[in-house]
Amino acid sequence: MNSVRSDLPANAALRHVYVHFPFCAHKCPYCDFNSHARRDGEIDGYIDALLAEARAWSGRVAAETIFIGGGTPTHCTAAQLERYVAALCSLLAPTPAAEVTVEANPGSVDAAKVAALVRSGVNRVSMGAQSFHDHHLKTLGRIHAAHDTERSAAVVRDGGIPRLSLDLILATPSQTLAEQAHDVQRVLALEPEHVSAYVLTYEEGTVFTKRMREGKLPPPRPERELEHLHLVRDALEAAGRARYEISNFALAGAESRHNLAYWRNADWLGLGAGAHSHVGGRRWKNVEDPAGYARAIGLQGDAPVWSEAVSPPWQLFESLMMGLRLVSGVDLDALADRYGMDVRIEHAAALARHQAAGFLRLEGSRMMLTETGLDVANAVICDFVPDVPPPVTKSLKP
Ligand code: SF4
Repeated sequence: MNSVRSDLPANAALRHVYVHFPFCAHKCPYCDFNSHARRDGEIDGYIDALLAEARAWSGRVAAETIFIGGGTPTHCTAAQLERYVAALCSLLAPTPAAEVTVEANPGSVDAAKVAALVRSGVNRVSMGAQSFHDHHLKTLGRIHAAHDTERSAAVVRDGGIPRLSLDLILATPSQTLAEQAHDVQRVLALEPEHVSAYVLTYEEGTVFTKRMREGKLPPPRPERELEHLHLVRDALEAAGRARYEISNFALAGAESRHNLAYWRNADWLGLGAGAHSHVGGRRWKNVEDPAGYARAIGLQGDAPVWSEAVSPPWQLFESLMMGLRLVSGVDLDALADRYGMDVRIEHAAALARHQAAGFLRLEGSRMMLTETGLDVANAVICDFVPDVPPPVTKSLKP
């Protein structure tokens, strides 16, 4: 019995839950998520396992945010969607004001599915628009066209989902700045409360990275990526979607509360294949393969494949790594209370160096990246790595 539940403090408060649905209609060549195409026959068994895992945790959760991501959570029938989303929303005891998000892809939602989401308690849909140029969507290996995004966004709105977030991928191969500008205007025309805009990254093990190494796709060019990001930032901000995280923009009050919990290094519970959890200084990951995950849940009621205890210096570093992505930065007094270490003392040299370079600034007890610092966030954050061994991962045989 591997149960991580018994290792946690009985009063561990679980307020943020991520749920993974690992099935997609098609595997995109740039994607390194735990997502699988042509395995739809496994969906019903997977839902059974997911609900069994949620049931095992249910007494310990009062969810302020639930985020159902993937994969493509809407890549199933309306009946399957309602079966698992409604049951999750009941088992995870969302508070009356909870934010309940479901990711969807253009073309994967219709009126029946949106009605099922609304009946289940979903109040936010995050949709992967990615581009509004069909030739770039084709390069990205996406199976939708620009008009599918417009049609699906209308279905979501007409069905009564109050909040819509749209994702864009920036600086795709051969994309011009004029095309990027056009994409943002097409996004804004759909009036999303929230926009995520991530530069295309070449992840290890993806088809895109292999093609790039073979010289068939251009390698990333950081200056070009920043040009695209700045253009998108300026257009979104001009339209009232303030940048609140390096790649995320929202109308006031429409920030993603679930993602804010990650960036503030709050505890969260992850359910489903490959999901990570981070509760009370302990972190673990579930079995990644959907069938293996379902088998482990059936045999033993949970499916952790490894777990690790994160020491306070590393928790502090992770809080900086995540929190400095936020435009509002981190509260150093609060971090000192939480971890018993003050960044102004522990990392005085790095702090002074990046302040002098104009990358970091202090405002009272808050530390944040400057506008220039946000462009080089990773390099700045690396300077805060603690001088103690990293967490030791303990393998758990499911
Ligand atoms: S739809 Fe999303 S999760 Fe699925 S393969 Fe494409 S990028 Fe990955």
